[in-house]
Amino acid sequence: MMKKDYYKVLGVSRNASSEEIKKAYRKLAIKYHPDKNLDNKKVAEEKFKEAAEAYEILGNEEKRNRYDKFGHSGIKGSYGASSGGMNMEDIFTNFGDIFADAFGDGFSNFGFGKSSKRKTIKGSDLRIRVKLTLEEIANGTEKKVKVKRLKAAKGVKIRNCTSCNGNGQKIRVTNTILGRMQTTTQCSSCYGTGKRAENIPYGANKYGLIKEEELVEIKIPAGITESIQLKVTEKGNEAPFNGISGDLIVLIEEIPHNNLKREGSNLHYDLYISFSDAILGATKEIPTINGRARIKIDPGTQSGKTLRLKNKGIPNIEGYGNGSMFIHVNVWTPKKINDEQRKFFEKMKKNENFLPHPGNTEKSFFDKVREMFS
Ligand SMILES: [Zn+2]
Repeated sequence: MMKKDYYKVLGVSRNASSEEIKKAYRKLAIKYHPDKNLDNKKVAEEKFKEAAEAYEILGNEEKRNRYDKFGHSGIKGSYGASSGGMNMEDIFTNFGDIFADAFGDGFSNFGFGKSSKRKTIKGSDLRIRVKLTLEEIANGTEKKVKVKRLKAAKGVKIRNCTSCNGNGQKIRVTNTILGRMQTTTQCSSCYGTGKRAENIPYGANKYGLIKEEELVEIKIPAGITESIQLKVTEKGNEAPFNGISGDLIVLIEEIPHNNLKREGSNLHYDLYISFSDAILGATKEIPTINGRARIKIDPGTQSGKTLRLKNKGIPNIEGYGNGSMFIHVNVWTPKKINDEQRKFFEKMKKNENFLPHPGNTEKSFFDKVREMFS
Protein backbone atom coordinates (compact mmCIF):
# COMPACT_ATOMS: atom_id res chain seq x y z
CA MET A 1 0.00 0.00 0.00
CA MET A 2 1.31 3.45 -0.88
CA LYS A 3 1.85 5.58 2.18
CA LYS A 4 0.06 8.90 2.29
CA ASP A 5 1.93 12.16 2.36
CA TYR A 6 2.15 13.18 6.01
CA TYR A 7 1.63 16.86 5.20
CA LYS A 8 -1.58 16.00 3.37
CA VAL A 9 -2.71 13.80 6.24
CA LEU A 10 -2.43 16.75 8.62
CA GLY A 11 -3.61 19.23 6.00
CA VAL A 12 -0.65 21.59 6.39
CA SER A 13 1.82 23.06 3.93
CA ARG A 14 5.36 21.75 3.65
CA ASN A 15 6.75 24.82 5.37
CA ALA A 16 4.28 24.82 8.25
CA SER A 17 5.71 25.79 11.63
CA SER A 18 5.88 23.22 14.40
CA GLU A 19 3.10 25.10 16.19
CA GLU A 20 0.85 24.82 13.11
CA ILE A 21 1.59 21.12 12.85
CA LYS A 22 0.75 20.56 16.49
CA LYS A 23 -2.49 22.50 16.11
CA ALA A 24 -3.52 20.60 13.00
CA TYR A 25 -2.86 17.28 14.66
CA ARG A 26 -4.78 18.25 17.76
CA LYS A 27 -7.77 19.23 15.65
CA LEU A 28 -7.77 15.89 13.81
CA ALA A 29 -7.29 13.93 17.02
CA ILE A 30 -10.33 15.60 18.53
CA LYS A 31 -12.37 15.05 15.39
CA TYR A 32 -11.52 11.38 15.00
CA HIS A 33 -11.28 10.35 18.60
CA PRO A 34 -12.89 6.86 18.64
CA ASP A 35 -14.96 7.68 21.71
CA LYS A 36 -16.63 10.50 19.78
CA ASN A 37 -17.34 8.41 16.67
CA LEU A 38 -19.16 5.46 18.09
CA ASP A 39 -21.19 4.71 14.96
CA ASN A 40 -18.12 4.80 12.77
CA LYS A 41 -15.47 3.62 15.16
CA LYS A 42 -13.27 1.59 12.80
CA VAL A 43 -12.87 4.33 10.22
CA ALA A 44 -12.37 6.98 12.87
CA GLU A 45 -9.73 4.88 14.57
CA GLU A 46 -7.84 4.47 11.29
CA LYS A 47 -7.91 8.23 10.70
CA PHE A 48 -6.90 8.81 14.27
CA LYS A 49 -3.89 6.51 13.94
CA GLU A 50 -2.94 7.95 10.58
CA ALA A 51 -2.84 11.45 12.07
CA ALA A 52 -0.79 10.23 15.03
CA GLU A 53 1.74 8.59 12.73
CA ALA A 54 2.05 11.77 10.66
CA TYR A 55 2.46 13.83 13.81
CA GLU A 56 5.09 11.54 15.25
CA ILE A 57 7.25 12.28 12.22
CA LEU A 58 6.41 15.91 11.46
CA GLY A 59 6.27 16.87 15.13
CA ASN A 60 9.88 15.83 15.59
CA GLU A 61 12.46 18.09 13.99
CA GLU A 62 14.97 15.37 13.19
CA LYS A 63 12.43 12.92 11.79
CA ARG A 64 10.75 15.69 9.80
CA ASN A 65 14.09 16.65 8.21
CA ARG A 66 14.70 13.09 7.19
CA TYR A 67 11.17 12.74 5.83
CA ASP A 68 11.58 15.96 3.82
CA LYS A 69 14.82 14.68 2.32
CA PHE A 70 14.12 11.01 1.75
CA GLY A 71 10.34 10.62 1.99
CA HIS A 72 8.87 7.56 3.64
CA SER A 73 11.98 5.48 3.09
CA GLY A 74 13.94 7.96 5.20
CA ILE A 75 11.90 7.21 8.28
CA LYS A 76 11.33 3.52 7.71
CA GLY A 77 10.81 1.69 10.95
CA SER A 78 11.01 4.83 13.04
CA TYR A 79 7.37 5.33 13.90
CA GLY A 80 5.93 3.54 16.85
CA ALA A 81 9.31 1.91 17.42
CA SER A 82 8.30 -0.65 14.83
CA SER A 83 7.09 -0.95 11.30
CA GLY A 84 3.68 -2.10 12.42
CA GLY A 85 2.64 1.39 13.40
CA MET A 86 1.27 2.51 16.71
CA ASN A 87 -1.62 1.12 18.60
CA MET A 88 -4.06 3.24 20.55
CA GLU A 89 -2.18 2.77 23.78
CA ASP A 90 1.08 4.04 22.25
CA ILE A 91 -0.67 7.12 20.92
CA PHE A 92 -1.97 8.09 24.31
CA THR A 93 1.30 7.30 25.98
CA ASN A 94 3.27 9.37 23.48
CA PHE A 95 0.95 12.30 22.85
CA GLY A 96 -1.37 12.26 25.84
CA ASP A 97 -0.11 15.63 27.02
CA ILE A 98 -1.27 17.30 23.81
CA PHE A 99 -4.83 16.27 24.52
CA ALA A 100 -4.76 16.80 28.23
CA ASP A 101 -5.98 20.40 28.13
CA ALA A 102 -8.50 19.64 25.41
CA PHE A 103 -10.28 16.85 27.21
CA GLY A 104 -9.13 16.94 30.76
CA ASP A 105 -7.17 14.16 32.29
CA GLY A 106 -9.61 11.49 31.21
CA PHE A 107 -8.63 11.63 27.60
CA SER A 108 -5.12 10.43 28.06
CA ASN A 109 -6.47 7.45 29.88
CA PHE A 110 -8.84 6.48 27.14
CA GLY A 111 -9.98 2.94 27.54
CA PHE A 112 -7.87 2.23 30.55
CA GLY A 113 -10.04 2.94 33.54
CA LYS A 114 -10.15 6.27 35.32
CA SER A 115 -12.45 8.40 33.19
CA SER A 116 -14.92 5.95 31.75
CA LYS A 117 -16.86 3.88 34.19
CA ARG A 118 -16.49 0.80 32.11
CA LYS A 119 -13.06 -0.52 31.50
CA THR A 120 -11.93 -1.69 28.11
CA ILE A 121 -9.69 -4.69 28.41
CA LYS A 122 -6.71 -5.06 26.18
CA GLY A 123 -5.91 -8.47 24.74
CA SER A 124 -2.54 -9.98 25.52
CA ASP A 125 0.40 -9.75 23.13
CA LEU A 126 1.58 -12.77 21.22
CA ARG A 127 5.17 -13.43 20.28
CA ILE A 128 6.42 -15.18 17.20
CA ARG A 129 9.88 -16.01 15.88
CA VAL A 130 10.53 -15.53 12.18
CA LYS A 131 13.62 -16.96 10.52
CA LEU A 132 15.07 -14.90 7.70
CA THR A 133 17.77 -15.55 5.16
CA LEU A 134 20.40 -12.89 4.58
CA GLU A 135 18.87 -12.28 1.15
CA GLU A 136 15.48 -11.57 2.72
CA ILE A 137 17.11 -9.22 5.21
CA ALA A 138 18.97 -7.39 2.45
CA ASN A 139 15.91 -6.87 0.28
CA GLY A 140 13.10 -6.71 2.80
CA THR A 141 10.25 -9.15 2.47
CA GLU A 142 6.74 -10.04 3.42
CA LYS A 143 6.12 -13.15 5.47
CA LYS A 144 2.86 -14.92 5.99
CA VAL A 145 2.82 -16.71 9.29
CA LYS A 146 0.20 -18.83 11.00
CA VAL A 147 -0.71 -17.35 14.36
CA LYS A 148 -2.99 -18.96 16.91
CA ARG A 149 -4.93 -16.04 18.36
CA LEU A 150 -7.80 -15.85 20.78
CA LYS A 151 -10.78 -14.60 18.80
CA ALA A 152 -14.42 -14.03 19.55
CA ALA A 153 -16.17 -17.38 19.01
CA LYS A 154 -19.14 -17.52 16.66
CA GLY A 155 -22.56 -17.34 18.23
CA VAL A 156 -21.43 -15.73 21.47
CA LYS A 157 -23.82 -13.09 22.75
CA ILE A 158 -22.59 -10.23 24.86
CA ARG A 159 -24.86 -9.09 27.66
CA ASN A 160 -24.55 -6.65 30.46
CA CYS A 161 -23.02 -7.99 33.65
CA THR A 162 -25.84 -8.80 36.05
CA SER A 163 -23.68 -8.28 39.09
CA CYS A 164 -23.01 -4.58 38.43
CA ASN A 165 -25.79 -3.87 35.94
CA GLY A 166 -23.23 -3.12 33.28
CA ASN A 167 -21.55 -0.33 35.20
CA GLY A 168 -18.30 -2.16 35.65
CA GLN A 169 -18.06 -0.96 39.21
CA LYS A 170 -19.87 -1.29 42.48
CA ILE A 171 -20.55 1.49 44.90
CA ARG A 172 -20.43 0.54 48.53
CA VAL A 173 -21.67 2.81 51.26
CA THR A 174 -20.35 2.15 54.73
CA ASN A 175 -21.02 3.90 58.00
CA THR A 176 -17.87 4.80 59.87
CA ILE A 177 -17.22 6.94 62.90
CA LEU A 178 -16.32 9.74 60.55
CA GLY A 179 -19.66 9.47 58.80
CA ARG A 180 -20.89 7.77 55.66
CA MET A 181 -18.14 6.73 53.30
CA GLN A 182 -18.75 5.86 49.69
CA THR A 183 -16.25 3.62 47.98
CA THR A 184 -16.20 2.48 44.38
CA THR A 185 -14.68 -0.84 43.51
CA GLN A 186 -14.25 -2.64 40.25
CA CYS A 187 -16.83 -5.35 39.71
CA SER A 188 -15.12 -8.68 40.28
CA SER A 189 -17.56 -10.69 38.16
CA CYS A 190 -16.75 -8.86 34.97
CA TYR A 191 -13.34 -7.34 35.82
CA GLY A 192 -14.78 -3.89 35.33
CA THR A 193 -15.93 -4.42 31.77
CA GLY A 194 -19.63 -4.37 32.63
CA LYS A 195 -20.18 -7.25 30.23
CA ARG A 196 -20.52 -10.99 30.23
CA ALA A 197 -20.61 -13.61 27.51
CA GLU A 198 -23.51 -15.98 26.83
CA ASN A 199 -23.98 -18.91 24.43
CA ILE A 200 -20.34 -19.87 24.83
CA PRO A 201 -19.47 -22.79 22.53
CA TYR A 202 -17.33 -25.75 23.55
CA GLY A 203 -13.64 -24.91 23.64
CA ALA A 204 -14.07 -21.17 24.23
CA ASN A 205 -13.16 -19.45 27.50
CA LYS A 206 -15.54 -17.61 29.78
CA TYR A 207 -15.22 -14.43 27.73
CA GLY A 208 -16.35 -16.30 24.64
CA LEU A 209 -12.88 -16.26 23.10
CA ILE A 210 -11.48 -19.28 21.28
CA LYS A 211 -8.05 -20.07 19.80
CA GLU A 212 -8.11 -19.83 16.05
CA GLU A 213 -5.38 -20.05 13.48
CA GLU A 214 -4.98 -16.98 11.34
CA LEU A 215 -2.62 -16.12 8.52
CA VAL A 216 -0.92 -12.85 9.39
CA GLU A 217 1.18 -10.89 6.94
CA ILE A 218 4.34 -9.36 8.36
CA LYS A 219 6.25 -6.69 6.50
CA ILE A 220 9.95 -7.05 7.12
CA PRO A 221 11.90 -3.87 6.31
CA ALA A 222 15.27 -4.26 4.59
CA GLY A 223 18.19 -4.14 6.99
CA ILE A 224 16.38 -5.57 10.00
CA THR A 225 18.56 -6.92 12.80
CA GLU A 226 17.91 -9.48 15.50
CA SER A 227 17.91 -6.72 18.10
CA ILE A 228 14.86 -5.04 16.57
CA GLN A 229 11.42 -6.32 17.49
CA LEU A 230 8.69 -5.72 14.97
CA LYS A 231 5.16 -5.20 16.12
CA VAL A 232 2.06 -6.02 14.13
CA THR A 233 -0.59 -3.90 15.74
CA GLU A 234 -3.66 -5.67 17.09
CA LYS A 235 -2.73 -9.11 15.77
CA GLY A 236 -2.24 -10.54 19.25
CA ASN A 237 -5.09 -12.03 21.24
CA GLU A 238 -8.44 -10.35 20.88
CA ALA A 239 -9.73 -8.71 24.00
CA PRO A 240 -12.98 -9.75 25.63
CA PHE A 241 -16.10 -7.84 24.60
CA ASN A 242 -14.69 -6.02 21.57
CA GLY A 243 -11.86 -4.43 23.50
CA ILE A 244 -8.52 -3.62 21.95
CA SER A 245 -6.61 -6.61 20.62
CA GLY A 246 -3.08 -7.21 21.81
CA ASP A 247 -0.15 -6.94 19.41
CA LEU A 248 1.90 -9.55 17.64
CA ILE A 249 5.55 -9.15 18.59
CA VAL A 250 7.88 -10.49 15.94
CA LEU A 251 11.35 -11.69 16.89
CA ILE A 252 13.84 -12.01 14.08
CA GLU A 253 16.25 -14.88 13.70
CA GLU A 254 18.93 -14.64 11.06
CA ILE A 255 19.77 -17.86 9.22
CA PRO A 256 23.56 -17.97 8.75
CA HIS A 257 24.60 -17.57 5.13
CA ASN A 258 26.77 -20.20 3.49
CA ASN A 259 29.39 -17.79 2.17
CA LEU A 260 28.76 -14.31 3.53
CA LYS A 261 29.19 -13.05 7.04
CA ARG A 262 27.17 -10.08 8.20
CA GLU A 263 28.52 -7.38 10.48
CA GLY A 264 25.93 -4.63 10.88
CA SER A 265 25.29 -3.43 7.35
CA ASN A 266 28.63 -4.71 6.03
CA LEU A 267 29.28 -8.13 4.54
CA HIS A 268 32.47 -10.15 4.61
CA TYR A 269 33.60 -12.83 2.23
CA ASP A 270 36.69 -15.03 2.42
CA LEU A 271 38.12 -15.52 -1.05
CA TYR A 272 40.75 -18.21 -1.64
CA ILE A 273 42.93 -17.80 -4.68
CA SER A 274 45.63 -20.07 -5.99
CA PHE A 275 49.33 -19.36 -5.71
CA SER A 276 49.48 -18.85 -9.47
CA ASP A 277 46.53 -16.43 -9.52
CA ALA A 278 48.22 -14.40 -6.76
CA ILE A 279 51.35 -14.12 -8.89
CA LEU A 280 49.80 -13.72 -12.35
CA GLY A 281 46.56 -11.94 -11.49
CA ALA A 282 43.07 -13.20 -12.38
CA THR A 283 39.39 -12.40 -12.66
CA LYS A 284 37.27 -14.15 -10.04
CA GLU A 285 33.57 -14.66 -9.69
CA ILE A 286 32.29 -14.17 -6.18
CA PRO A 287 28.85 -14.48 -4.53
CA THR A 288 27.19 -11.25 -3.42
CA ILE A 289 23.89 -10.78 -1.64
CA ASN A 290 22.14 -10.29 -4.98
CA GLY A 291 23.73 -12.65 -7.46
CA ARG A 292 27.34 -13.01 -8.48
CA ALA A 293 29.96 -10.40 -9.29
CA ARG A 294 33.35 -10.45 -10.98
CA ILE A 295 36.37 -8.91 -9.35
CA LYS A 296 39.90 -8.38 -10.59
CA ILE A 297 42.88 -9.76 -8.72
CA ASP A 298 45.98 -7.73 -9.57
CA PRO A 299 49.22 -9.56 -10.37
CA GLY A 300 51.34 -9.83 -7.21
CA THR A 301 48.38 -9.72 -4.80
CA GLN A 302 49.38 -10.46 -1.21
CA SER A 303 47.50 -12.87 1.00
CA GLY A 304 45.47 -10.90 3.55
CA LYS A 305 44.62 -8.07 1.17
CA THR A 306 41.06 -6.73 1.58
CA LEU A 307 39.02 -5.51 -1.36
CA ARG A 308 35.94 -3.38 -0.84
CA LEU A 309 32.79 -3.26 -2.94
CA LYS A 310 30.89 -0.13 -1.96
CA ASN A 311 27.09 -0.35 -1.62
CA LYS A 312 27.16 -4.14 -1.96
CA GLY A 313 26.32 -4.65 1.71
CA ILE A 314 23.00 -4.59 3.54
CA PRO A 315 20.76 -1.49 3.51
CA ASN A 316 20.71 0.55 6.68
CA ILE A 317 17.32 0.16 8.31
CA GLU A 318 17.03 3.89 8.95
CA GLY A 319 17.46 4.53 5.24
CA TYR A 320 21.06 5.78 5.25
CA GLY A 321 22.16 3.77 2.23
CA ASN A 322 23.93 0.45 1.95
CA GLY A 323 26.95 -0.95 3.71
CA SER A 324 29.97 -2.38 1.89
CA MET A 325 31.09 -5.84 1.00
CA PHE A 326 34.64 -6.72 2.02
CA ILE A 327 36.53 -9.45 0.21
CA HIS A 328 39.39 -10.90 2.20
CA VAL A 329 41.95 -12.45 -0.11
CA ASN A 330 43.66 -15.62 1.07
CA VAL A 331 46.35 -17.30 -0.98
CA TRP A 332 45.92 -21.04 -0.96
CA THR A 333 49.18 -22.84 -0.39
CA PRO A 334 49.12 -26.37 -1.82
CA LYS A 335 49.97 -29.21 0.56
CA LYS A 336 50.83 -31.74 -2.14
CA ILE A 337 53.11 -31.06 -5.06
CA ASN A 338 54.75 -33.37 -7.59
CA ASP A 339 58.44 -33.81 -8.24
CA GLU A 340 58.53 -31.36 -11.08
CA GLN A 341 56.89 -28.64 -8.96
CA ARG A 342 59.16 -29.41 -6.05
CA LYS A 343 62.23 -28.91 -8.27
CA PHE A 344 60.83 -25.63 -9.53
CA PHE A 345 60.22 -24.17 -6.08
CA GLU A 346 63.53 -25.42 -4.72
CA LYS A 347 65.18 -23.58 -7.56
CA MET A 348 63.20 -20.44 -6.67
CA LYS A 349 64.05 -20.62 -2.96
CA LYS A 350 66.98 -18.27 -3.21
CA ASN A 351 65.50 -16.24 -6.07
CA GLU A 352 65.27 -12.55 -5.21
CA ASN A 353 61.66 -12.33 -6.51
CA PHE A 354 60.49 -15.01 -4.09
CA LEU A 355 61.98 -13.45 -0.97
CA PRO A 356 59.53 -11.44 1.13
CA HIS A 357 60.33 -7.75 1.40
CA PRO A 358 57.13 -6.09 2.54
CA GLY A 359 58.89 -2.74 2.94
CA ASN A 360 59.36 -2.29 -0.82
CA THR A 361 56.22 -3.55 -2.43
CA GLU A 362 53.44 -3.04 0.10
CA LYS A 363 53.33 -0.35 2.72
CA SER A 364 54.01 -1.93 6.07
CA PHE A 365 51.57 -1.58 8.92
CA PHE A 366 53.83 0.97 10.64
CA ASP A 367 54.12 3.03 7.48
CA LYS A 368 50.33 3.17 7.21
CA VAL A 369 49.99 4.25 10.83
CA ARG A 370 52.66 6.91 10.34
CA GLU A 371 50.82 8.24 7.28
CA MET A 372 47.57 8.45 9.17
CA PHE A 373 49.05 10.71 11.81
CA SER A 374 51.26 12.92 9.64
ZN1 LIG B 1 -19.87 -6.56 36.51
